[in-house]
Amino acid sequence: KSFAESGLPKEVLECCMNFEKPSPIQSHSWPFLLHGRDFIGIAATGSGKTLAFGIPAIMHVLEKRKNKALKRVNPLCLVLSPTRELAQQISDVLCDSGKPCGVRSVCVYGGTSKGPQISSLKSGVDIVIGTPGRLKDLIEMRVCYLKEVSFVVLDEADRMLDMGFEPEVRSILSQTCSARQMVMFSATWPLPVHQLAQEFMDPHPVKV
Ligand code: AMP
Repeated sequence: KSFAESGLPKEVLECCMNFEKPSPIQSHSWPFLLHGRDFIGIAATGSGKTLAFGIPAIMHVLEKRKNKALKRVNPLCLVLSPTRELAQQISDVLCDSGKPCGVRSVCVYGGTSKGPQISSLKSGVDIVIGTPGRLKDLIEMRVCYLKEVSFVVLDEADRMLDMGFEPEVRSILSQTCSARQMVMFSATWPLPVHQLAQEFMDPHPVKV
């Protein structure tokens, strides 16, 4: 299928202009994610997974905005990443892709000062991308409020648990809206990842 056949708005697809057609993970995930289904993607880096969840995240923000006339301050989407490098890569893609439709993203990670991250959060963002440790700190400082987050992505879930972030991930997920849509990407499917999915996702997520 082509991008034109995806039915996505032109300004949302602007970031895909240089690509010929959606990658397999994109064409398999978009129909489900745009219909609000929980989704598990077993996919490696390089498959185009960032836009596979990124475009539905942007569409989620645009849909939510339709329902509320007020200017939004609290984030609506959250992307958790195991490392700062991956978080930054995701953030670069989401900032570029969101710009034509006015969707604002912020990236939060440890090892650097909190000040600029706090200012961005306070100025109002639609999508937060972050590593679990720093995000948990910011939640505890009450500068990041996740109750309105209704679209959550766990990227490289297996790596995130391997790195020992399971307590933070659980605590962060429990702060988000209970009626959330969840997306999980993982290169492998070990028991701890499976258990996390069972606990926090729909009983019957789509698995690709
Ligand atoms: P990712 O797996 O998200 O890290 O993406 C890997 C690379 O694939 C990035 O350089 C993207 O710009 C590129 N990419 C994403 N979507 C497509 C597509 N539909 N066609 C060709 N390349 C793509």
